[in-house]
Amino acid sequence: MTLKRYIILLLGSGLLLLVAIQWWLTYQAAEAMSLRLQTRLAEEVSSQVNDKVRQFFDVPRQVVSLNVAQVRQGVIDPRDPEALVRNFLLQLEQQPLLTFLSTGTPEGEYFAASRPPLGEDRSLRILQASIANHRVMSLYRVDERNRPGQLIDAGNDNYDARLRPWFVTAQMMGRMSWYPVYRYAINDPADDYSAMGLGMSAPLYGADDQFVGVITADVSIVQLSRWLAEVMERSGGVAFITEPDGKLLANSTPDPVYFLSRDETRRISLWESDSPLLRELGELLERQADPEQGRILHQIGNERYLVDWVSYSLRDGPTLRIVQAIPQSQFMAPMLDLLRQLLLVAAGILLLGMILITLISIWVTRPLVALSRWASRLGRGDWTYRPDIRTPVQEVSRLSQALGQMAHHMERQTQDLERLVATRTRELEQANQELSRLSRTDALTGLANRRSLDEVLAREWGRTRRFAQPLSLLMLDIDWFKAYNDQHGHPAGDHCMQVLADVLRQHTQRATDLAARYGGEEFAVVCSGLDHARALGLAEEIRGMLEQRALPHESSPLGVITVSIGVATLNMGDTRSPGQLIEAADLALYRAKASGRNRVVSVENTHVAH
Ligand code: GH3
Ligand code: MG
Ligand code: MG
Repeated sequence: MTLKRYIILLLGSGLLLLVAIQWWLTYQAAEAMSLRLQTRLAEEVSSQVNDKVRQFFDVPRQVVSLNVAQVRQGVIDPRDPEALVRNFLLQLEQQPLLTFLSTGTPEGEYFAASRPPLGEDRSLRILQASIANHRVMSLYRVDERNRPGQLIDAGNDNYDARLRPWFVTAQMMGRMSWYPVYRYAINDPADDYSAMGLGMSAPLYGADDQFVGVITADVSIVQLSRWLAEVMERSGGVAFITEPDGKLLANSTPDPVYFLSRDETRRISLWESDSPLLRELGELLERQADPEQGRILHQIGNERYLVDWVSYSLRDGPTLRIVQAIPQSQFMAPMLDLLRQLLLVAAGILLLGMILITLISIWVTRPLVALSRWASRLGRGDWTYRPDIRTPVQEVSRLSQALGQMAHHMERQTQDLERLVATRTRELEQANQELSRLSRTDALTGLANRRSLDEVLAREWGRTRRFAQPLSLLMLDIDWFKAYNDQHGHPAGDHCMQVLADVLRQHTQRATDLAARYGGEEFAVVCSGLDHARALGLAEEIRGMLEQRALPHESSPLGVITVSIGVATLNMGDTRSPGQLIEAADLALYRAKASGRNRVVSVENTHVAH
């Protein structure tokens, strides 16, 4: 793996990890935040709902207690129904929640001011069932003077207020108290009274402590549901109120809390509701250890709800349970939006980071890559390559300098070494040449030695055969030399041989001639291309010149150092070998000795020169 990839991989995965951790922490924080928000909203909604419920149930209490006091003070009197109803209408205008404000007389008559709980037209109505009108329940619109105006409907013959639940409860309890939820018994062609209500009723006593009837203030539970729906709309959740027996009193969802038909009035319990959510919540509450109050997170379907319940005891009445469930998605949705945006930002950061990391890695590794290339070229012995490595990184720049110095150093050393090798090679060549020269030269005389003579003779023999030329050989031997040595000593003998060698050198100037020491005080001269006559001539010159040098030799009959020479020649067509040529020359030399010394003898015709 290259350094660049390594850096990208290392920093990239670090960055990825950081971004992932950051995103995960944000997600956790967002979730915790959403739960906090949900809880806060639940608390807020709960307190709103509780306030509304309290307000709702306070209305009948306030109204009834006010009227009980008014009757007792003689401010109003049920025995003057007309004034009473006008007063009720005024109160109803002040209390938009009230559905009915009515009295029942001890005779069972009924007088009431009312606001229909349903329908578009919520204008006030007057209801009355008087003995004078044969107890027929009549429903009127209200005219400008707050008197019965247009008759809407009349029905319910023989209406007897004394049989109604509110009347019965008041009489039974003997004081102000709640009566259970009941169905309104109003014949209304518009069906605006087709609803259920509840309220408080109380027996009325006049200033003289006489029972003058029962007063009831009634609120429709439809209104309670409307309120719950309003409050819950913002939270997206549901809220409902149940009575201790599980009957629904109000519900923020459109699912009904009771069922009404011509013949049937049926309250709906929580577990009978049309809403699966309500049924599920009902089951959940059943399982709770504390039915009075609590809060729990609960998964229903795909949604997580924060379920909150509290019990509310009506003074002089039943204990109600107010339940609300707020879905988490309501809070998670904006959080998820935020997280999605964060994810995009994270991706952006990651992308930018990767680009930055790539640039950094290129910037960091470029000088290193150049260095490594340089080093491998140095490894191959390329000292001349000098890249221009510029980097602000101190270590790399030092490395580059060091490599430069090393290259310089090695280049110099290599050059020195090459020079040394060249010198040594030259010296060795010279030494070799000298050696070779020495190996072919006779140390005493400086002439060619016997080995060289053999080589040259063989070479010249071949050459003269190829070019059809004559080849002559002279064999020389110093006369009476043993005696000379004995008399003059060896060094003087050596000197004589050196003198003869000089003479031979002077007469073998041609490139093809070779004078050699054959052994002891015997010498030989190879004359390539020289015919027999000229070879004899040459031998004679040599003999004559040595004689002329007149080196004294008292033991010789001649008085000076002389030489005997045998000459042999191979002419064209002669098939004798070099060895045979030597033998012939030797034979001639032997004859020269035998015939008196200091002479030239040829074997061919035994020519003797003197
Ligand atoms: P001749 O040839 O005339 O028959 O008589 P000679 O005395 O020369 O006999 P021979 O050739 O047998 O003698 C050879 C002598 O040459 C023997 C030795 O003393 C002498 N000699 C051989 N080699 C050397 C040498 O290197 N230096 C010296 N000083 N003398 C040598
Ligand atoms: Mg000899
Ligand atoms: Mg001799």
